[in-house]
Amino acid sequence: MNRKEIIQAIKQDPKIPVLIIGAGINGIGTFRDLALQGVDCLIVDKGDFCSGASTASSHMLHGGIRYLENGEFKLVKEALHERNNLLRNAPHLTHPLPTTIPIFKWLSGIFNSPLKFIGLLDKPAERGAVIIKLGLIMYDAYVRGDSPMPGHQFDNRTKALERWPAFNPNLRFAATYYDGGMHSPERLALEILMDGVNEGAHPRAVNYLSAVGAEGEKVLLKDELTGELIPVQPQIVINAGGPWIDFINQEISSQSKYIGGTKGSHLIINHPELRQAIGGHEIFFEYVDGRIVLIFPYLEDHVMIGSTDLRIDDPDQAICTDDEIDYILDMVPQIFPSLNVTRDQIVFQFSGVRPLPVAKGSTGQISRNHSIEVLEKDEQVPWPILNLVGGKWTSYRAFSEQVTDQVLDRLGMTRKASTANLKIGGGTAYPASEGEKDIYIQNLSEEHKISPDRARTLFERYGTRAAEVAAFITETNDAPLKSLSKYSTSEIKFLIEKEMATRLDDLLLRRTKTAWVGELNEDSVHELGSIMGNSLGWSQEEEQGEVVRSLDLLRERHAVNI
Ligand SMILES: Cc1cc2nc3c(=O)[nH]c(=O)nc-3n(C[C@H](O)[C@H](O)[C@H](O)COP(=O)(O)OP(=O)(O)OC[C@H]3O[C@@H](n4cnc5c(N)ncnc54)[C@H](O)[C@@H]3O)c2cc1C
Repeated sequence: MNRKEIIQAIKQDPKIPVLIIGAGINGIGTFRDLALQGVDCLIVDKGDFCSGASTASSHMLHGGIRYLENGEFKLVKEALHERNNLLRNAPHLTHPLPTTIPIFKWLSGIFNSPLKFIGLLDKPAERGAVIIKLGLIMYDAYVRGDSPMPGHQFDNRTKALERWPAFNPNLRFAATYYDGGMHSPERLALEILMDGVNEGAHPRAVNYLSAVGAEGEKVLLKDELTGELIPVQPQIVINAGGPWIDFINQEISSQSKYIGGTKGSHLIINHPELRQAIGGHEIFFEYVDGRIVLIFPYLEDHVMIGSTDLRIDDPDQAICTDDEIDYILDMVPQIFPSLNVTRDQIVFQFSGVRPLPVAKGSTGQISRNHSIEVLEKDEQVPWPILNLVGGKWTSYRAFSEQVTDQVLDRLGMTRKASTANLKIGGGTAYPASEGEKDIYIQNLSEEHKISPDRARTLFERYGTRAAEVAAFITETNDAPLKSLSKYSTSEIKFLIEKEMATRLDDLLLRRTKTAWVGELNEDSVHELGSIMGNSLGWSQEEEQGEVVRSLDLLRERHAVNI
């Protein structure tokens, strides 16, 4: 069913056992797990799928080495196992990420952890070689026998400067260990969502449908495209609104104060020299203020630099400010003194709010753990509300499993299947070696009569879902886009018709990475708008409105020079 048909069906039968409000990674993970257990559920989002905190992450799949000094051992261990699961289950959209920490001191930081425990240290303090070594030994030990990646390695100054000649020569060591990375959290989340949708007729997903109120036992959903109000009658509500959780509770009739969000901003810079200087590694380091920041190897010649960590009350106001841009740009010369990074090299910027639990003190100290906070049914609230507070992208699956188990319990059902080893989307039947990849690509090219280069591109974008995309392409009249030849008209139609793209920016920011790496210009936005308009039956006026809205969004929110 398409969006309109689902909405029609809901209007005819508003009874929905489980309503999930918010389609970030935690809502989506829970949706897929419930779908797998045969639970009738509806997930809605006020915007596009994965357009909140889950699109604004630092793109790391990690245990979180720095959380060890906060004493969050259980969290780190769980996240490391989930990191490894994700690398295995979605190899097309995740990758091992060698991560290097330049170290300037020997001993400092040794007392950070004990001082934090007894409450005498509230701010981050410099970490030296010994404490980092201890942390990495623990990090490796947690996943011994279960990690697809090698353990950590220490390089002395001479060796470090041989490997990274542009590093600040004052360093004493460089420690390298492995974590995971993802270039498109949005695609990964979408594929998890679609795996849920494909479980049958019982799981349904609608974007641009927001929870705006309640009427008796009904939650009022508003179609953000038409303004229409659609009442639904759930048995259980899952509030997966991330940083908006308390706002949602307020809308649907219950007060809460679970979230104390902090804003994090990142820049994507086109800088071939810096990209080469980091040597394909993520550089993870302590900034002058003691915060841990990163330079992440992004697509092609791009690097992603971030992030900030600032308290914010309203997540809708999260935007990367001028001060944050200066703060982020100043990070680079601390580690690479000979490399200058300027504002005109920024191709994209983004900001999001970490849905952290309410806590006092320094933002870096707030726990990144997750919890299910339940508002039980009472005279005021006609359904139990399970609030999904906190968490990390990396550990979404474990969190979703815990939520699903609670829901199953409440519905008197039992778990039928686990998601632990379940492949995700185009990670299914993924070739195990480079040789097998080549064979897959050759077969794809021959079977669908597309060039080997095109087959490779589709495989790199969609994993083994490339076969579905290629079949769609060859059934329709295909041609490269005039203004963006890396994509073709039919591929774009596939993303619109098969991947629930609803507004033009869904295509520019989330179904493709075109906006993130400076590939768009006015012509391509118009051309994509026209394909989308044709597919979705927009009027000329609607199409023009979408183009103008997208251009404004790209320029104002994301600093895209267009
Ligand atoms: C700057 C930053 C860096 C991070 N880095 C990492 C990292 O490197 N690795 C890692 O593992 N984790 C990282 N995280 C944490 C991780 O991204 C988040 O914990 C996770 O994405 C939260 O997902 P969520 O589904 O709870 O929230 P969200 O993704 O915010 O989803 C909530 C959804 O609710 C929707 N919504 C709001 N109001 C309504 C309404 N009334 N009706 C319907 N829908 C509504 C929103 O549109 C949104 O899509 C980072 C987070 C941030 C912000």
